[in-house]
Amino acid sequence: MLALASGELMSHSSLRAPGSDPPPSPPPPAGVVARMAAIVGAANVISDAADLRTYECDALTSFRARPTLVVLPASTDEVVGVMKVARDAGMPVVPRGAGTGLSGGALPTPGSLVLALSRMTKILEVDFDNGLMRVQPGVINLDVSRHLGPAGYYYAPDPSSQSVCTIGGNVAENSGGAHCLKYGFTVNHVRGARLVTADGDVVDLGEGGVLDSPGYDLLGVLVGSEGTLGVVTEVVLRILRRPEATRTFLAAFPSTDEAGRCVSEIIGSGIVPAAIEMMDRLAIEAAVKAVGVDWLERWPDIGAALLIDVDGPRAEVEHTAREALAIAARAGAIEVRVPDDEDERQRMWKGRKSAFAAMGRLAPNYIVQDGVIPRTEIARVLAEIEQLAGAAGLRVANVFHAGDGNLHPLVLYDARVPGQERKAEDLAAEILRICLRYGGSITGEHGVGADKAPYMAEMFGEDDLETMARVRCAFDPDTMCNPNKVFPTPRLCGDRPGPYRTHATERDGRADRG
Ligand SMILES: Cc1cc2nc3c(=O)[nH]c(=O)nc-3n(C[C@H](O)[C@H](O)[C@H](O)COP(=O)(O)OP(=O)(O)OC[C@H]3O[C@@H](n4cnc5c(N)ncnc54)[C@H](O)[C@@H]3O)c2cc1C
Repeated sequence: MLALASGELMSHSSLRAPGSDPPPSPPPPAGVVARMAAIVGAANVISDAADLRTYECDALTSFRARPTLVVLPASTDEVVGVMKVARDAGMPVVPRGAGTGLSGGALPTPGSLVLALSRMTKILEVDFDNGLMRVQPGVINLDVSRHLGPAGYYYAPDPSSQSVCTIGGNVAENSGGAHCLKYGFTVNHVRGARLVTADGDVVDLGEGGVLDSPGYDLLGVLVGSEGTLGVVTEVVLRILRRPEATRTFLAAFPSTDEAGRCVSEIIGSGIVPAAIEMMDRLAIEAAVKAVGVDWLERWPDIGAALLIDVDGPRAEVEHTAREALAIAARAGAIEVRVPDDEDERQRMWKGRKSAFAAMGRLAPNYIVQDGVIPRTEIARVLAEIEQLAGAAGLRVANVFHAGDGNLHPLVLYDARVPGQERKAEDLAAEILRICLRYGGSITGEHGVGADKAPYMAEMFGEDDLETMARVRCAFDPDTMCNPNKVFPTPRLCGDRPGPYRTHATERDGRADRG
């Protein structure tokens, strides 16, 4: 039974359960546990209420829902079997990697089966001659580069969560990271994928080693589809040789105005750094507390910092690093610091990478927002955010991929203060609207999931959403794969745009809009 709330797929308030347990999920249909156990082994089927709690949420912990069942397959064949049993039993399937998603993508739908891919961790093949590697989806992002390291290769997309998140989750979210400015997002590094559809069909997408095969780019459609098209069970990744040299420097600025100008001028000059990350004063304070970097002692008036990596062949790197340093100085940097040694370079990056976690040192709670703006608008957008935050009596720290214009405002609040959580949510929502007003997007890399589905209608028109829904329905006509995510309206496949009409599945009792 697909239970859909009216108006929104899953309303935020119905999913938030601060300090309380989400309601129990309905029991699995008769015989399903035994049938699943016959496919994956009894030890890999979880139906006990206490054990199911682990799967109630992803890293967006304020959204919680109890799944009916969790199944952990180890191969494509097992996934096929699980999908067929789920389809027969009418159970929606929610794929799950490591559960580090920040938009509620792996949040269970009531009555759903969570298909956890954490046992599918095999590296199946490495083909150095063609620069390709085939892996199962549960492989941890950083383990790919660890595996390739001794041969001088690596996998470029580097989400800050890379030591825990999975390749399958990265594919589903089209994940980015600090070094995606030069090298591109996950979509630029996936050359093929094996997908198991809701019917249990196995589909190979992409051209593997061949460039530009004819037909629609269905692999491009799959990457970033957030588990709504099926379950990815194998991925062919593009692997790269490690660059010969990397130069890192940290530019301290009086404010985000000068730092924002510096970003535009560096990119405008034709330099493509591997990474340009910005931190504002609050984020710097958090990093100092967490990692012990001396940035506040060294530059008491610092208002913003840019952490910049340039990489490539040694001769080119020396040249571009000199140019970028000169631009930073001209843009008004207080100082541009080149690390004395690898140890200091690592500390600089640790300061940046630990900034999210370090927020706990500034406030008991925070919301991580994720939006995109044209990078030329960084200074103006940050000023608007600061103004809004001031009016709401809240603080917002900013630490983000400045080169991509991918903001991560961190809205700090104290949930113990009555009304403050609500205010923080409202502010986080307004920040997305600012991004849209400046021609940006409601998400840069964390996905839409359950959290941002309501905002899709603010970014896209009815026709756009309808087109996306039809693409989804070509893969999953009964919307059984990760239902209630991404799309803002409770439309089922076969619905036509316009005023709501009762859907066929409602008439025969299979779906219910509440
Ligand atoms: C501290 C922290 C830092 C982060 N930094 C970044 C960052 O820098 N850049 C970034 O992009 N993200 C970042 N994230 C978000 C998150 O780590 C990424 O979205 C990551 O790709 C999620 O991977 P996962 O394995 O945890 O997937 P999950 O959270 O388990 O799932 C994410 C989505 O993928 C779907 N899915 C998972 N596996 C499959 C599969 N095999 N087939 C089909 N669908 C599947 C799920 O249904 C869900 O919709 C961060 C998160 C945290 C907590």
